Amino acid sequence: MTAKRITHWIDGKPWTGPVARYGEVFDPALGAVSGHVDFASEQDVDAAVAAADTAWRSWRSSTLSRRSRVLFDFRTALLRRREELAAIVTSEHGKVLSDADGEIARGLEVVEFACGIPTLLQGGFSESVSTQIDVTSIRQSVGVCAMITPFNFPAMVPLWFVPIAVACGNAVVLKPSEKDPSASVLLAECWAEAGLPDGVFNVVHGDAVAVNRLLTHPDVRAVSFVGSTPVARHVYETGTSHGKRVQALGGAKNHMVVLSDADLDAAADAAVSAGFGSAGERCMAVSVVVAVDPIGDDLVARITERMGQLRTGDGRRGCDMGPLVTGAHRDKVTAYIDAGVQAGAKLVVDGRGTNVDGSDDGFWLGPTLFDNVPTDASVYTDEIFGPVLSVVRAPSFDQALDLVNASPYGNGTAIFTSDGALARRFQNEVEVGMVGVNVPIPVPAASYSFGGWKASLFGDTHAYGPDGVHFFTRSKVVTSRWPRATTPHAQLDLNFPGNR
Ligand code: NAD
Repeated sequence: MTAKRITHWIDGKPWTGPVARYGEVFDPALGAVSGHVDFASEQDVDAAVAAADTAWRSWRSSTLSRRSRVLFDFRTALLRRREELAAIVTSEHGKVLSDADGEIARGLEVVEFACGIPTLLQGGFSESVSTQIDVTSIRQSVGVCAMITPFNFPAMVPLWFVPIAVACGNAVVLKPSEKDPSASVLLAECWAEAGLPDGVFNVVHGDAVAVNRLLTHPDVRAVSFVGSTPVARHVYETGTSHGKRVQALGGAKNHMVVLSDADLDAAADAAVSAGFGSAGERCMAVSVVVAVDPIGDDLVARITERMGQLRTGDGRRGCDMGPLVTGAHRDKVTAYIDAGVQAGAKLVVDGRGTNVDGSDDGFWLGPTLFDNVPTDASVYTDEIFGPVLSVVRAPSFDQALDLVNASPYGNGTAIFTSDGALARRFQNEVEVGMVGVNVPIPVPAASYSFGGWKASLFGDTHAYGPDGVHFFTRSKVVTSRWPRATTPHAQLDLNFPGNR
């Protein structure tokens, strides 16, 4: 395989400057290096921020109808290259092609939401709040916005932020994951094709060097981060201490509670789909099933039976589940399985050494199921981010709810039941940002906002939807007085102004 070079996109074109460091990009199903990605120096980041800052100064004054047209044209470009983008995602991430297409579909929904920017940016106006005084509220762009995104959704997560930021009149510097960087370059090409002016959208590749420069650069005004909790915390603390607004979405450990009155076939289908889709490398994956007495044995049997039908292999061959993103990550997840056995959890399905439809060198690990998992075992407490599903038994609804609420994470959760009153209590009392009722992966539609609670989100603004528009704009309120010529002008008055 000839390794390609993946480089930055700055000021409307691929970067041609010198590069001192680079990283390897793998095709996880082949276990082979498919490319080398340039790692940005601080100076490279400065060049991208300078291009963005210059571009922002014109783009912020562009008309809403022009922005809307660019968004529509971006959507057209993306639709035209949809299959190509899905193939790129599969070749660098490993998820199966249909799943890669699914993430593009969810990203497109945010693009479509952003096409409505003329409506989304409508301000407020109050006539005559005081004598001959009117008030207008407007929302204006923020400036250069940095986005730092994870490996597991190389197309969708950038699309959560970029379309709304651009539609709101900002310029963007995206730092995608160095593990699967090519999707972001295709997005840049689509923006160029859509007529977005040079410099409004830039991509710098790399590692902590690039991220830390973005977090401290004086011309970066806002930072959107998605990734693991320790890095999210670092990004939030560093970015805010440098005066930026920051939304930092972190890791997860999502529980799916199954009550005894649930449709157990639907619950088992949901647990397997949400547990093993994308090989468990989703922040909304179900990683814990809480089986409320007495249905535990029955539910585990149904989950096990379904797991036997899954085909693990190369995502280009119509398999159900692909490889893990890197060999190192596969080994880390395997170590969690070893630790789970040692901690006394019952290994019902062992994914180690599973049969695969793919190259011998791929980063494979089959679907794995543990039952009766102790809640102090690392397989329960830690975010594993792989195809490992833990079943925990709970004697009652209340204890199941307490268990979910004791987790330090609060990204997503689900309850499966036919009891509306208990479902309502669950949605009301659970300490989690996104809740599914008989829905295993409750990712909000684009017109709502996505975000967790507790260690799953630092900051107070969720991604996309109304929160996205809020995050990427600054509010301004104008109080104006246009007296008639015949009105006597105001007298000297040193008191605090009151409304009359
Ligand atoms: P990660 O935290 O390792 O990396 C995320 C980004 O931060 C990447 O661009 C990476 O280059 C950069 N980065 C990594 N280490 C850094 C450091 N020390 N300093 C500065 N920057 C650093 O995450 P990942 O492995 O790419 O993605 C998986 C994680 O993302 C999981 O924890 C998952 O739950 C989380 N995630 C969360 C959401 C959400 O919406 N809450 C969505 C998707 C993924």
